[in-house]
Amino acid sequence: TIDRVSTRFPVIPAKLGRVPAGISRRRSRIVVTGGAGFVGSHLVDKLIKRGDDVIVIDNFFTGRKENLVHHFGNPRFELIRHDVVEPILLEVDQIYHLACPASPVHYKYNPVKTIISLSMGTLNMLGLAKRIGARFLLTSTSEVYGDPLEHPQKETYWGNVNPIGERSCYDEGKRTAETLAMDYHRGAGVEVRIARIFNTYGPRMCLDDGRVVSNFVAQAIRKQPLTVYGDGKQTRSFQYVSDLVDGLYALMESEHVGPFNLGNPGEFTMLELAEKYPLFGGAHGLVGLGFKVVLSLNLSMGWEEQKQPLANTFGLSNWTLFWIELGASRRERKEFGVAGAGSMVAMPGMLVVKETIDSSATIEFRPNTADDPHMRKPDISKAKELLNWQPKVSLREGLPLMVSDFQNRILNEDEGKGF
Ligand code: NAD
Ligand code: UDP
Ligand code: UDP
Repeated sequence: TIDRVSTRFPVIPAKLGRVPAGISRRRSRIVVTGGAGFVGSHLVDKLIKRGDDVIVIDNFFTGRKENLVHHFGNPRFELIRHDVVEPILLEVDQIYHLACPASPVHYKYNPVKTIISLSMGTLNMLGLAKRIGARFLLTSTSEVYGDPLEHPQKETYWGNVNPIGERSCYDEGKRTAETLAMDYHRGAGVEVRIARIFNTYGPRMCLDDGRVVSNFVAQAIRKQPLTVYGDGKQTRSFQYVSDLVDGLYALMESEHVGPFNLGNPGEFTMLELAEKYPLFGGAHGLVGLGFKVVLSLNLSMGWEEQKQPLANTFGLSNWTLFWIELGASRRERKEFGVAGAGSMVAMPGMLVVKETIDSSATIEFRPNTADDPHMRKPDISKAKELLNWQPKVSLREGLPLMVSDFQNRILNEDEGKGF
């Protein structure tokens, strides 16, 4: 039977691709909605590298052509300016559906547009998937768990979401998108995949998108105070973008519908993020009884300014710091650069710093936003077991990779070249 929409959009048989002689694996034609954004553009890089044909659909609300410019001219790459709220006709094998602003600042900017993008946009992409028999992957979010009452969060947890709050356009929009995906799966036999993504960071994030990692990195580079919202004790788990892209790909290629949590289980308070990882500067081995914590000093701040956040980390108001410097490993030198290595070399052997904390702050506390989740950490056992996936890049390894990208872009900005 031909339904109303199918009359408007003729049914195209699934799997149109032909296998050229001598090639065992058929090249897939893949749509990435939101492919000009942060995560989408890294995903496109992976798919193009694999040899697939990629069509990006993006309305450039938060995405940038610069993220994809290296594929321009490649005949296997196409970029279409299109809003997923409008129907579209395409013939492809797979749809990665990412289109949606992800930063709270962006998705709250026009909340009605956000929820329409998530509902109508997802409906259209599912309608497309149904018509052409394509596999459909939804990039959902850990926000579906709201301010979770279960910790860490498993996929079986139904969440604690405010339906009428400032974040609801995103949280409830993503929950609606998941519902639609499952209804198309059950009702129309669409092959769907659902990923619940936890906080992800890396190169190409928007410089001023308001997310915590991009804010801290940009603030540190611009020598501004790091803005910590609320008391800074709320937690998040931060995943490097290449791990996420590997997870999305593994899920798409798997036989499992999900939902799957994709995130790095390492959990940090916002204060820890601000203090322990101020991103550039000297790396120091703080050695205790058989364990080593690596702290980094932000060279844009003086030592006096460093102490308050350190004291906060350990919950002390008056703190004596004993720094025993053992020198840098090769890896630390590489990661933190000449300045870091220099400061370590300058304090070889043993250095004992004994000071009283003063109140001058390196961190600027700001009121928190409404309904901010108090804690978030993924339980990724399901993805580990069924997708054979787990993150490989720690925050300490991933942040420097992002910092160099931000440094270049901020430098260009300062020089008036823009991006
Ligand atoms: P991003 O803002 O960099 O990318 C989103 C992209 O979607 C942008 O290129 C934007 O222009 C495009 N877009 C937005 N609305 C659109 C519309 N109506 N039509 C067409 N294109 C549209 O964000 P991101 O971090 O790359 O997030 C990508 C996806 O991953 C989003 O669906 C987001 O909800 C999800 N996600 C991301 C994170 C994270 O930490 N980055 C966490 C959870 C979920
Ligand atoms: N749609 C689309 N491209 C297609 C097929 C459908 O954009 O190739 C849109 C269509 O406009 C509709 C939505 O997807 O709004 C859902 O389509 P479906 O056929 O599932 O539902 P119906 O329109 O019959 O309710
Ligand atoms: N946050 C912060 N300073 C900032 C931006 C964000 O302390 O400059 C906090 C925010 O209150 C939240 C956490 O960092 O608790 C993560 O916020 P983000 O916007 O990155 O993502 P979310 O997980 O809220 O979607």
